[in-house]
Amino acid sequence: MIIAIDGPAASGKGTLGKRLAEHYGFAHLDTGLLYRAVARVLMDRDIPLADQAAATEVAQNLDVSHLEDDSRLRGAAMGEAASVVSAYQPVRDALLAFQRQFGVKASGAVLDGRDIGTVVCPDAEVKLFITAAPEERARRRHRELLSRGEQAEYETILVDIRRRDERDMTRSTAPLKAAADAVTLDTTHLDADGAFRAALAIVERKRTSK
Ligand code: C5P
Repeated sequence: MIIAIDGPAASGKGTLGKRLAEHYGFAHLDTGLLYRAVARVLMDRDIPLADQAAATEVAQNLDVSHLEDDSRLRGAAMGEAASVVSAYQPVRDALLAFQRQFGVKASGAVLDGRDIGTVVCPDAEVKLFITAAPEERARRRHRELLSRGEQAEYETILVDIRRRDERDMTRSTAPLKAAADAVTLDTTHLDADGAFRAALAIVERKRTSK
């Protein structure tokens, strides 16, 4: 069984994906880390993010083994950089097979990102689209960055989130959007536990109706 979770930056889909995976004993892939890792390699090598050919080569040769342990990938700068390189079709193509295989190899998997329900796993049994008001997402991201000891200003984060939403939703390749058969969950007024309970109810409803 595959649970596909999509949604904009800081909507809580990562936390939700992790908790659902733990609940069902499924494997979990945060696909944003793949794009963040491509951006990080380019930045480490002082290659401009605008160099599509270099980004593609990095994506084709990406070492995906320790992404979860790399705390640098989770910073704000890397999210912004990831959204630049993720707009390149050849970069997306290079990362597609790994994501699909991840879903197929495990007996159950949760994948979260922007195009899981639409492109990566269009046949997923359950598709969730997690959203929340930009101001609330900025508040959450602000809290998270401060708790990790990063310098962060709420206003800057809000601007960043709006810019990233705009770029992710308007790009020509795999834009962020809910799949036609996705269930949308707005978490603006839910805390992490409330969002988890609501998501679990949706998944259970889908599972039992199959
Ligand atoms: O989810 P996260 O914030 O880590 O993603 C970073 C960026 O990577 C997103 O803003 C988006 O541009 C890109 N991304 C994507 N497709 C995915 C996951 C992430 O384009 N499946």
